Amino acid sequence: MTQMALVIDLNKCVGCHACATNCKSWNTGGQFGPLTDTNPYGKEPLGVWFNRVQTYEVGKFPHTDVVYFPKSCMHCKNPPCVEVCPTAASYKRTEDGVVLVNYDDCIGCKYCSWACPYGCREFDTFDGVMKKCTLCADRIYNENLPPDERKPACVLACPAKARAFGDIDDPASEAARWIAEEKGFKALPEAGTDPANHYLPKRKAKVMLDRDMLTQHAQRPVDMERKSASAGDVVSEDVAQT
Ligand code: SF4
Ligand code: SF4
Ligand code: SF4
Repeated sequence: MTQMALVIDLNKCVGCHACATNCKSWNTGGQFGPLTDTNPYGKEPLGVWFNRVQTYEVGKFPHTDVVYFPKSCMHCKNPPCVEVCPTAASYKRTEDGVVLVNYDDCIGCKYCSWACPYGCREFDTFDGVMKKCTLCADRIYNENLPPDERKPACVLACPAKARAFGDIDDPASEAARWIAEEKGFKALPEAGTDPANHYLPKRKAKVMLDRDMLTQHAQRPVDMERKSASAGDVVSEDVAQT
């Protein structure tokens, strides 16, 4: 079965909010349906955000770290939001696993937002209907777009290349390879929703050391003067104090 999803690398995410901003930009003016926001491009935008970047400080001082956690609908394989919807407005597509809301059938009861354990549903007070991330369903198969732009707006915007998109049930997809190679995990597995979106954990950075750079560092003039001083040569006051 095909299950489209996002994979977000928490090790690469720098919390810049470009994904959230481009998501809002596309979904305000995109073809799936406009977002009716107050002051959407102003200093204090109000309204629906399909993608929100949360920030956490982890660890104990002085060994603390900051984790940026972008969050949008996880397109769960076992979505409680669909189960509780009294009008069947919420549904999961069989062809690609994307969870969507049919706005025409939504009565705005908000049951789905109570059922979602991730807080990923967004009520549009102006339209009186529930909205949420569509995985840019109006972009990913859109033949009016160049093939390399048929991806969710958040993925296209990420400057850190921290987001992958694809069929996580296809081992050859970039998304599935990221999960396999870097121990991708699901958020809140105990909720039993089997989220399709995955996260890659924070991990030690792979730093490539350049041997020439190391040698240059060892031969800094200040180091060489120190060496001379320890050998009994005269050394300037400045250098001696360093
Ligand atoms: S994350 Fe929430 S809204 Fe999205 S499919 Fe899962 S339960 Fe439904
Ligand atoms: S708010 Fe709309 S989508 Fe959510 S449960 Fe009610 S009818 Fe279904
Ligand atoms: S655009 Fe990329 S780096 Fe910036 S907050 Fe989103 S996921 Fe993180």
